[in-house]
Amino acid sequence: MLRKYQYPIKKLIGFKEEKMAENTTGSPKKRASTGSPAKRRTKAAEPSAVEKIETPAAEPVVESVSEPVAETVAETVVETVAEPAAEAPAAAINEEPPMPTPRRSVAFIGSECYPFVKTGGLGDVMYALPKALIKQNCDVKVILPRYKCIPWEYQEKMVYRGEFYMDLCSDGRSFYVGIMEYVWNGVVYDFIDNEDFFRNGNPYTNLVDDIPKYCFFAKAALAALNYMNWVPDIIHCHDWQAALVPVYLRSVFSGTPVSSAKVMLTIHNLRFQGIYNIATVKYWSGLPDYLFDYAVLKQGVDDANMFKGGLTYADMITTVSGTYAGEIQSTFFGEGLDAHLRYHSGKLRGIVNGIDTEIWDSSTDPTLPCPYSAADAIEKKKENKLLLQEKLGLERDPGKFVIGLISRLTDQKGLDLVDFILPELIDGNTQVVVLGTGDARYENSFRYYEGAFRGSVCSNIMYDEGRAHQIYAGADALLVPSLFEPCGLTQLIAMRYGTVPIVRETGGLKDTVQPYNEYTNDGNGFTFDRYEAWLLLDAINRAKTLYFTRRERWDEMVIRDMNKDVSWENSARQYRQLYMELKPAY
Ligand code: ADP
Repeated sequence: MLRKYQYPIKKLIGFKEEKMAENTTGSPKKRASTGSPAKRRTKAAEPSAVEKIETPAAEPVVESVSEPVAETVAETVVETVAEPAAEAPAAAINEEPPMPTPRRSVAFIGSECYPFVKTGGLGDVMYALPKALIKQNCDVKVILPRYKCIPWEYQEKMVYRGEFYMDLCSDGRSFYVGIMEYVWNGVVYDFIDNEDFFRNGNPYTNLVDDIPKYCFFAKAALAALNYMNWVPDIIHCHDWQAALVPVYLRSVFSGTPVSSAKVMLTIHNLRFQGIYNIATVKYWSGLPDYLFDYAVLKQGVDDANMFKGGLTYADMITTVSGTYAGEIQSTFFGEGLDAHLRYHSGKLRGIVNGIDTEIWDSSTDPTLPCPYSAADAIEKKKENKLLLQEKLGLERDPGKFVIGLISRLTDQKGLDLVDFILPELIDGNTQVVVLGTGDARYENSFRYYEGAFRGSVCSNIMYDEGRAHQIYAGADALLVPSLFEPCGLTQLIAMRYGTVPIVRETGGLKDTVQPYNEYTNDGNGFTFDRYEAWLLLDAINRAKTLYFTRRERWDEMVIRDMNKDVSWENSARQYRQLYMELKPAY
C-alpha cells in the first residue's frame, strides 16, 4: 500500500518509467517474437508512418483485393479486345486512389468487435469502420476487453505486449492489466487482459458486474496507451462502456502523454447508459468528488450516469445517423439525456453506418447454398428461397412472399407491432421467418405462431450468423419496424442482398431507406411513419401488392437495392473529416 502511495501517478496511469520497462520487458523474448509491432513512439505523426510500414497485415489487404480483380479484368479484355486497350483498364484498376493527407492515428475503444465478440451492431461497426479508415490514411488501433468467450482461434494468435498494475478504486485497490495484441487486415487489436473482470461467457451480464468491469476497462485502455507510448491524434470511444474514457482523460490522466489526444464519443444506442448509484461508481472508478456533479456524472438524486459524463468531456459527439442526432435531443428519444444533449448540441454530429461489403457479399458468401450477384439475383434468390423453406420446414414454393425478421427480440425493435398483426399476414401466400433472441414475451409469442401457422411461420429463437445470411438471401422482404433505431444494419444488409426492407421512418431507417414511389417507380423499400400496428400492416400490404401484381417493378427494386452504395467508404470519409477538425494539442 505504502509503495502505491509513493508512486501514485506512475502506477495510476500506466506511465512506462524506466523501472517498469525493465520489469515488464523482463520478457524481451516474448516481445521480440511478436515481430515487435510496438516501436516506441512519442509523437502522433511518427506512429502513423512507422505503423504503416511495419504492420505486416497491411500489405495482404492490397494484394488480396486488387490483384485478382486486375487479373480477371485483364484476362477478359485480352481475349476480346486488341492488346493496347487491354493494358489501359488493367493499369487503371491497379492504381489505388490517392490517400487523403495528412495521416491520422486513431485509437478505437469499445466493448465488442466482430469476429471476437459481437452482440449487435456495435460489434459490426468496431470491425468495419477501422478497416475502412485505413483506406482513408488512418492508422488504427482497436482496444477491447479480452473476454474469456473470445474463440480460441483468436486467443491463440494473440501475442503478449506487456503488463502492469493500475490503481483503480477510491481506496487505492489496484489491478493487473495485461496487453495482448493481434494484428489483422492492417488493424492492430490490443486486448486488455484481467480475468477478474472478463471471465464471463458473455460480455454483458448485469450492472452489478458491468459497472466495475467498464470502469476498469476505460481506465486500463488509457493506461495501456501510455504504457505502449502510443499517443494517437484521436481517441474514438463507443457507447457507455467506454464513456468514462473522456472523463478519465481530462481528469486523472491530464498532463500525461495520452492527454494530448482529442476524444470523440459515438452514441450507438442511447438507451443503455451505465447508470448506478454514486457511491458504487465513485468507488470503482476512483474518480474525484468534483466530477459527481450535475454537469458531469450526477443524475437524479444519487445516481451517476457514465454516458452523461463522457458526453460532457468529449471533444466531439457523434451518433450513427443524422435523424437520430436530431431525435435524441427530444424528450421521447432522449432517454433522459435530451437536455444534456441539447446543451452539447454544438459538438454533436450524425454519420450513418455502412456495412462491410466483403463479409456481406452475396456472390462470395460461403454460407449461401446458391451465391448470386445483381446479374442473376432474380433467378438465384428463388433457389435460395426454396432451400431456406426446405431447411426451415416451410412449404416449398418460390411463389410465396417470404418476410424475414432478424433482430434482438426487444421492445426497441417494434415487435409488439409484429406480434399484433402477424395473424393478419398469414393469407396462404405469405411466409414469415423470424431469427432472434431476447425478451421471453416475444420468444414465446413467436414460438406460438410457429405452432399455430405450421408451414407458414418459422421462429428460430437463437443467435446464428450463418442462418442470418441465408435468411437475408432467401427472403423477399425484411421487416424493421423499430420504435427507435439509431442506424440499423439489417436494412442495409437486406438491400445488399436484394431483399426489400419494410421499415418505420425513424433514425437511420429513415436516412437509408427511400420509400417506393409508384409514380416515379423509384425508391428502395416500404416505409410507415407513426408507431401503429395497422400502418405496419399497410406497408407490408403495399409491398405484397407490388410483388404480386407488378413483379417486374419489384424485380427492378431488388436490383436497385443491390446496387445501392451501403459501404463504409463514404461514412469513413466523413469520420476522417471530423478527425481533421479535432486538432490534437501538441
Ligand atoms: P442492434 O440494435 O441489435 O445493434 P443492428 O441492426 O444495428 O441492431 O445490428 C444487428 C446485427 O446483428 C446485424 O448484423 C444482424 O444481422 C445481427 N443479428 C441480430 N440478431 C441476430 C441473430 N439472432 N442471429 C444472427 N445475427 C443476428
